[in-house]
Amino acid sequence: MDIQMLIGSKFEAGTEIEEKILNPKTGETILDLPEASLSQIDSAVDAADKAFQSWSATTPGQRSAYLLAIADAVEKDALGFATLEALNCGKPINAVLNDEIPAIVDCYRFFAGAIRSMHAPVAGEYLPGFTSMIRRDPVGIVGSIAPWNYPLMMMAWKLAPAIAAGNTVVFKPSEQTPLTALKMAKLMAEILPEGVVNVVLGRGESVGNAIINHPKIGMVSITGDIATGKKVLAAAAKTVKRTHLELGGKAPVIIYDDADIDAVVSAIRTFGYYNAGQDCTAACRIYAADKVYEKFVADLASAVSTLKYNQADDTENEIGPLISKRQRDRVESFVARASEHKHMEVVTGGKLGSDKGFFYAPTVIAGALQDDEIVRREVFGPVVSVTRFSDVDQAVTWANDSDYGLASSVWTKDISRAMQTAAKLRYGCTWINTHFMLCNEMPHGGLKQSGYGKDMSVYALEDYTAVRHVMIAH
Ligand code: NAD
Repeated sequence: MDIQMLIGSKFEAGTEIEEKILNPKTGETILDLPEASLSQIDSAVDAADKAFQSWSATTPGQRSAYLLAIADAVEKDALGFATLEALNCGKPINAVLNDEIPAIVDCYRFFAGAIRSMHAPVAGEYLPGFTSMIRRDPVGIVGSIAPWNYPLMMMAWKLAPAIAAGNTVVFKPSEQTPLTALKMAKLMAEILPEGVVNVVLGRGESVGNAIINHPKIGMVSITGDIATGKKVLAAAAKTVKRTHLELGGKAPVIIYDDADIDAVVSAIRTFGYYNAGQDCTAACRIYAADKVYEKFVADLASAVSTLKYNQADDTENEIGPLISKRQRDRVESFVARASEHKHMEVVTGGKLGSDKGFFYAPTVIAGALQDDEIVRREVFGPVVSVTRFSDVDQAVTWANDSDYGLASSVWTKDISRAMQTAAKLRYGCTWINTHFMLCNEMPHGGLKQSGYGKDMSVYALEDYTAVRHVMIAH
């Protein structure tokens, strides 16, 4: 196992306090990893600074070749990466191997292609005797900070567009899930020039805080909690850094009375609970039309009660545990508070999923009302609430009545109703008759307190570049 950070070309252990890295399936310690000191963070930033001079001067074609090499190397060692990710996160290995790794490999390949075909307005004479042109140049050193739910994928979403665009990076994985980032650091060091990617370990309040406040870092890209995003913004104000914030979600799912209920039930069984619901686009906040409400709740409860987890044979598992005891306790307390209200009913789940490890049983809460906590706050666990509506406009108003604005879906056979609803929803993404489907060509990012800035797609390349005007007198 790779256990050292990457600073320039050197592999080093941190010198500060140790963080316990746990196996969420058992609660046992995998190993203890020390976090970076302030001087190690400075060295990583200096290495990124030095590398920027030459990396930013490479051609898109050269950077593309590096990204393709990274993609090939990850693909070649897919089982090694998947095994480690499954160990550190508790995910079923098949989910990592069959869903996540191909998407991660494709992310590096997408940006390898996209950087070679960036478009800009044509050059021209906008003042007589002067020719103007637009450049899209790298921003500089990017401080990238990732969450624990998809460690390797979030690393790809952050690194691929940043380095494709000619930036250099100081990357910090979540203190809870650093193992695949360290394996990736080893791979990157074998492929990339020294200092283009640096990986430092540590907690948000110490190492993360040092990154977001570092005067030499020009842009901070973070995926995490709204509260963390606000800290990034406050720090960025001091040195006027560029920020890229992906800050959670509470995805509404509107089910109209003509929807194909079997299809919705099957989709919510998967996309409400994928990754044990630790997903910012999880289909967790359902609004079901009066006419279909009873059938939908009954069918969903029965489908969700068949979800497989904590089986000895991991190939049978559909979902894993929560990432930590703290997260599981948090989920448990959300359900306990909901259960205190008479109008809500826990129709399946509502209990711990195991004696050891951090499992929580997949849960459906019916009868939720718009102002209930379970409808308003992000649980980030395997819990879906269902709210009944009778008026179509009311459903859209409720769906939009949220601090979050990341993902949403609409289910109906009437395509004009679907399009009218999609146009009214204030979410970065609206799916129609599906949910959760992502592809590297399309942007992922939020509105409102879900943050701003796009992952994936050419829009990410725009975010990781600065638009510049160059004018020539003639
Ligand atoms: P978190 O905000 O606690 O941590 C995210 C990262 O930020 C970690 O690496 C952490 O160490 C770091 N961090 C924490 N405090 C910091 C500080 N003061 N300064 C600098 N860095 C700091 O979030 P989490 O618990 O790891 O992840 C779950 C959250 O992430 C959820 O809210 C989820 O919805 C969100 N998320 C969003 C997306 C998206 O694309 N919008 C994707 C995945 C997860």
